[in-house]
Amino acid sequence: MQSTVAPPQTSALDIALQHSPVITGRIDLQQCLHFANPPLATAVGYPIERLLGCRLAHTRLAAIGELITRHGRALLAGEAITCNTEIQHATLGIRNAEVTLAPHRAATGSIIGYLFFIHDTTDACADITRLRLLEQQARQLALYDPLTNLPNRRLLHERLDQCRLESAGTGEYCALLSIDLDNFKSVNDLYGHPQGDLLLSNTARRLIHSVQLDDTVARTGGDEFVVILRNLGTERAEALNRVSQLAERILTALGQPYQTGAGEYWGDYGLLSTPSIGAVPFHGTHLSNDELLQRSDMALYRAKANGRNQLALYDPAQLIEAQRRLTLETELRGAVERQELRLHYQPLVDAQQRIIGMEALLRWQHPESGLVLPAHIIPLAEQTGLIVPIGRWVLDTACAQLAKWQQNPHSRHWTLNINISARQVNAPGFFKLLQQCLTRSGIDPSGLCLELTETVLLKGIDQTLLDHLGQLRQRGVQLALDDFGTGYSSLSYLKRLPLNWLKIDQSFVRTLLEDARDQGIIAAILSLTRALGLKVVAEGVETHEQFDYLRSAGCDAFQGYLFGRPAPAEQLTPDISATLPLNQPE
Ligand code: C2E
Ligand code: MG
Ligand code: MG
Repeated sequence: MQSTVAPPQTSALDIALQHSPVITGRIDLQQCLHFANPPLATAVGYPIERLLGCRLAHTRLAAIGELITRHGRALLAGEAITCNTEIQHATLGIRNAEVTLAPHRAATGSIIGYLFFIHDTTDACADITRLRLLEQQARQLALYDPLTNLPNRRLLHERLDQCRLESAGTGEYCALLSIDLDNFKSVNDLYGHPQGDLLLSNTARRLIHSVQLDDTVARTGGDEFVVILRNLGTERAEALNRVSQLAERILTALGQPYQTGAGEYWGDYGLLSTPSIGAVPFHGTHLSNDELLQRSDMALYRAKANGRNQLALYDPAQLIEAQRRLTLETELRGAVERQELRLHYQPLVDAQQRIIGMEALLRWQHPESGLVLPAHIIPLAEQTGLIVPIGRWVLDTACAQLAKWQQNPHSRHWTLNINISARQVNAPGFFKLLQQCLTRSGIDPSGLCLELTETVLLKGIDQTLLDHLGQLRQRGVQLALDDFGTGYSSLSYLKRLPLNWLKIDQSFVRTLLEDARDQGIIAAILSLTRALGLKVVAEGVETHEQFDYLRSAGCDAFQGYLFGRPAPAEQLTPDISATLPLNQPE
C-alpha cells in the first residue's frame, strides 16, 4: 500500500514524536539513527543515547532497514510507503507491525534521510484471526452436523439449489437419495446412545467412501442421510442405471458388519445394520428442493414397506396415492362428528344354522364415495391414531345395540363380537373405557365378545394385558382370537390368553375343498382347540359344501355369506332367528 505524506519539519517533528506512542525513528541515507523516541528504545531494548548513531542493521529493526532498501527508489522519488511486516520486540517477541516510511528533507528540499513509524498491530491481527475463527466455527455449526461432520439440512439445501441450477444448464441428470438405517432404534435401545452415535459416524464414513468427490452426503437427522449424485448423464435410462449401481454399492458398504472400536459391545461378529434407500432422479429446477425430498422420502417409505435393505425408485403413482390418503385422512377425522360411521352386523350361526350372535363390522358412509370398507379405514386409522376415537364410537354404538337386542326375547341370547385393534389395546385408558362402557350401557357383559387379532400380541403378552383381560373375563366378557392362522399362530398365546373362541381365518376355508393342506390345518386347529377347551368359529363360509365339511369336522360356529352378509341393524330380523339365511347384500 502506498501513500504520499508531506515532508516533516525536523526539529518540531522530533519534539512531537518524542511523546508519540507510535515507535518512531529517523535515519540518514546510510540508515544510521539520528532520532529515536522512547517506545523505539523499549522495542529494541536499548536506551536512546546508545541507539543514536547505530545502523539499523545492527539493531532489532534490521527488517525496517530492508524495507527502506527495497522501497529506496520510491522513497527517493519523494513517496511515502506503508507496509506490513514483523518486528522482533525486545520483550514482547515477534509482533505484527504496520510500518510507514517517509523521506526526510533538508530545508533545501533535498532528501537527507528517512522517517519511520512502526504501529504495533498484533492485537488487531489477533482480533481478526479470532474473528475469522469464530466465523468459521459458527459456519461449521450452522452448516455441518457435529457428530459426523457431514453437511446438515441447511447446507444440503444450498447444494441442492446449486445442483438444480447447474443441471438446468448442462441438461445432466442428478439424483437425490434418502437413506435410513433399518434397525437404528434397536441399536440405541440395546447398546445405548454412545454406541448409536458410533454407528452413525461409521455409517457416514462408509457413505462418503461410496460416492464420488463432487457428490454430497448429508445427515438430516437421527439415522437419516441424504445423498446428492451429480453428472449422471443426459439420458434418463442411463441415470437410473447409475443410481441403481451406486445404491448397490451403498447397500453393500453399509451392510458389512461394524466393528470399529466397540468389539466388546458388538460381539465377535460385529454389528449388522442395513439401510433402506429411496431415490428420485431429476434435472433442472422445475421441482423445488422440498418436492424432491418429499419424493425420495416416499420412495424410501416404499423400500421399507417392500422389506427393507433395498432401493426403491420414486414412482409417480405413489404421490397420487399419498394425496388420496391425505384427503381420506382429513375426511376421516371429521367422520365421527359428522355421524358418517356405521356398524353393519353379520350373523354367526351354530351347526343348526341358528343365529348365536353377530359381528359388528365398521363402515363409513362417505358422502361421495359411498360405503367405504374397513380395509380402507382401519389401517389409516391405526397409523394416524384415529383408531382410538373411532374404536370408542364402535364400542359405544355396539354396546347400545347389544342392550336393545338383550331386551328382545328373540335375540336375548345373541353375543355381539367387536373387533379390537392392536393400537386400541395399547392405547392408555382403553380397558378403563371398556369397563365404563359396560357399566353405562347396562348390558349383560357375557353377551359381549372382543375379537383380538394376533397383531395385538406382536409386542408380546405382558402381565398388565393379561390382568386386564382376566378382569374382563371375570365380568363375563368373552374373548376371541380372530383370523387365526394368518399371524404368528403361536401355541404359547393360546395357552396363556384367557380365550373362549378361536376364529379360523377365511383364507383356509376358501380353498378348503380343493386343498388337502387346508383340511390338514383345520383338523390340527380343531384338535388343538379341543385340548385347550376353546370353541371354534369358521369364517368366510360361502357354500353348503364348505359348511357341511366344517360342521362334520367339528367347528362350533360359522360365519359367512352363506348365512348372511353384513347389514345395518334395521335390516336384521331377530324374530326369525331360527330361519336363515338372512342373505341381503350390503
Ligand atoms: P374380520 O374381523 O375377520 O371380519 C370378517 C370379514 O370378512 C368382514 O370384512 C366380512 O365382511 C368378511 N366376510 C364375512 N363373510 C365372508 C364370506 O363369506 N366371504 C368373504 N369373502 N368375506 C366375508 P370387512 O367387514 O371388510 O372387515 C374386514 C376386517 O376389518 C375385519 O376382519 C376386521 O379385522 C376389521 N374390522 C372391521 N370392523 C372393525 C372395527 O370396528 N374395529 C376394528 N379394529 N377392526 C374392524
Ligand atoms: Mg373379526
Ligand atoms: Mg376374521
